[in-house]
Amino acid sequence: MCGIVAYIGQKEAYPIIVKGLKRLEYRGYDSSGIALQGNNSINIYKKQGKVVNLEEFTENLDRSGTVGIGHTRWATHGEPNDVNAHPHYSEDKDLAIIHNGIIENYDSLKHQLLSKGYTFRSETDTEVLCYLIDDIRKNTGAKLGESVRMALQQVVGAYAIVIMSKDEPNKLIAARKSSPLVVGIGKEGDFYLASDATPIIEYTKQVVYLADEEIAVIKRGSELKLYGIDDVEKTPYIQELELHLEAIEKGGYEHFMLKEIHEQPRSIEDCFRGRLNASEGRVSLGGIKEYEEKIINANRVIMIACGTSWHACLVGEYLFEDLARINVEVEYASEFRYRNPIIGENDIVIAISQSGETADTLAALELAKSKGATILGICNVVGSSISRITDAGSYTHAGPEIGVASTKAFTAQVTVLTLMALSLAKQKNAINESKYRAMLSGLEVIPQKVQQVLEKNSEMEFIASQYQSASNALYLGRGSSFPVALEGALKLKEISYIHAEGYPAAEMKHGPIALIDEEMPVFVIATKGTSYEKVVSNIQEVKARKGKIIAIVTEGDTQVKEIADHTVEIPETDEHLVPLLATIPFQLLSYHIAVMRECNVDQPRNLAKSVTVE
Ligand code: GLU
Repeated sequence: MCGIVAYIGQKEAYPIIVKGLKRLEYRGYDSSGIALQGNNSINIYKKQGKVVNLEEFTENLDRSGTVGIGHTRWATHGEPNDVNAHPHYSEDKDLAIIHNGIIENYDSLKHQLLSKGYTFRSETDTEVLCYLIDDIRKNTGAKLGESVRMALQQVVGAYAIVIMSKDEPNKLIAARKSSPLVVGIGKEGDFYLASDATPIIEYTKQVVYLADEEIAVIKRGSELKLYGIDDVEKTPYIQELELHLEAIEKGGYEHFMLKEIHEQPRSIEDCFRGRLNASEGRVSLGGIKEYEEKIINANRVIMIACGTSWHACLVGEYLFEDLARINVEVEYASEFRYRNPIIGENDIVIAISQSGETADTLAALELAKSKGATILGICNVVGSSISRITDAGSYTHAGPEIGVASTKAFTAQVTVLTLMALSLAKQKNAINESKYRAMLSGLEVIPQKVQQVLEKNSEMEFIASQYQSASNALYLGRGSSFPVALEGALKLKEISYIHAEGYPAAEMKHGPIALIDEEMPVFVIATKGTSYEKVVSNIQEVKARKGKIIAIVTEGDTQVKEIADHTVEIPETDEHLVPLLATIPFQLLSYHIAVMRECNVDQPRNLAKSVTVE
C-alpha cells in the first residue's frame, strides 16, 4: 500500500513522478503529493484524492525541478486529507519525506520530539520520522544519509522511504524495511525510485531491489551506493527487468479488471508453460521439486495467506488432501502469527501472495522461519520480498495485476496449487496413472474452457442487471467450490459494496437460511460431482423460502435448470478443476454490477493492493 515514486537526473521530475504515481494508484488513492527541489527551497504540493486532483491543483504552480519525490497514499495514521498527505516535511521545510509503511513506535518518538519543542502539523507517523531525522541532523551536524541511518536505528516498524534535503540538492536517500522499493538506474546518471517497477520500465531496464534495512545514497551523475543500517557498504545487485509496457496498460478495455478477467486463458497457460506436459505425463514445478520429499514427510503442511489468496489456499487444501493425501491446514497469516503457533523443523509453511509483499504473510513466514520450518512461497511479482525470503517457491506468471480486486492472480494461484498437488500425488503414489493422466489432460485444456466461460459475458451482464440493486447476496458451494463461493462473495463486496456472504452450502440451514426471502439472490455452484445431489437439495431449500437462485451448472444440466431462476453453464471438467472455471462467471457478475452501480471498479473505496501494512 502507498505508492512511492522519485526521480533525480537531468529531466523534469514532475511529469515522470506524476505518470509513475498514476501507475501506482492501485496501491492507494486517499491523497497524493509531490516535493520538487527548487531554487534553494523545496516546493511541496499535496491534495486529497486521486493524482488528477494533484495535477489540477498544481496546474498554475511552479512544477519545475529535476529532483523530486511523490506519493500516493493509503492512510493508516490520520484521515485522508491534504495535511496528512505525503510528502511530509521538517518544520523549516528543509527536508521532505515520502513513506510507505507504519512507524510502530511513532507515539513515543513523537512525545520525545514534542518535549523538545517541535510542533506537528499532521496526525501521521511519517511526519514523526521526518522530524526525528531533522532533529538528528541538526544536533549532530551529520549529513542526510547518516542522519537517516541513525534515525532508522530508533525506528520499530515497516518503511520504504525516500528523503530529499534543500541543503544537499543533488542527492536522494532511500531505505526500506518490509515495504518494497526498487531503484532504476538510468543511462545518464539519473535514477528512478518506485514501490514497484511499473513507473520505471519505460526509462530503464536496470534495477536494484533494496533489501531490508538497506539504505541507498543516490547522487545525481554518480554511482548508486548501498549501506546496511550498520553502515557496512554493500554491492548493489543490478537486475534486468522483464516487464513490458503493454502488460500494465488497459489495451482497449474499459477497466483493468475486465482486461485481467479476459486475460485468464493466457495467464493460466503461462502459469503451466514448461511445467505441464500431458502427453508425456509430466508435471514439474522447478523450485519446489527438491522440497517434495520434505512436503510428503512433513509433520504439518500449513498454507497461509490473506484475502483472495487465502481462498486459493482453501482450494489448495482440497487438492492436496484429495489428490496427494497430504494433510493441510489453512490459516489467515494475521491470525497465525499472533497465536504463538506450534511450529518446528519438520513443518512446511506455504505462503501465497499476489504481490509477494503482504505484510502479515511476510511476518508470519519470518516467524515460521525463525522456528526452523521450511518456508515456500507462491507469488506473482518476481523479485518480491516473499520470493526472496522463502527457501523455494513458484511464480504464478499471471503478469501485472492492476485492478485492486484480484482475478487472474487467483486462478493462477489455483493453477500452481493444482500442479503442486498433482506432482506430489504422483511422487507419493497417491494417485493412479489413469486418473493422473486424465487430470493432466483436463488441466491442459482449461484455458480453452475458461475462454468458453468468458463468452458468457453478456449472460452475466443480464444477470447483473437483475440483481444490481440487491442489498445482500449469498454464495454457496461445497467441496472445493466452497472457497469459490467465498471468493465470489468477496468480489461482490469489494467492488460493488453489496453485502455478500460465502457459505458451505450445507451450513446454510445452521443460520443464514433465516436471511432468505424473495429479495435475496443466492448464487450457487451446482456443477456435476460428488455433492451434486446435496447441492440440489440446498437449492430446493432456498426455493421453498422464495429466494432467487442463480446457479453455475455443468453444460447439459437439466435438473437445476428446472428449479433455478437463472443458470450459467460451464464446460464439463474434472471436479478438482471446477474452481478454475466456476470462479469466472462470478468475476464477470461482480464487474458488471459494480459498473451498473457506478462504482470505481479498479480502485474500490477504502481498499488498495499490495497490503504492506499489518
Ligand atoms: N503510515 C503512513 C500514513 O498513514 C503511510 C501509510 C502506508 O504506507 O500505507 O500516511
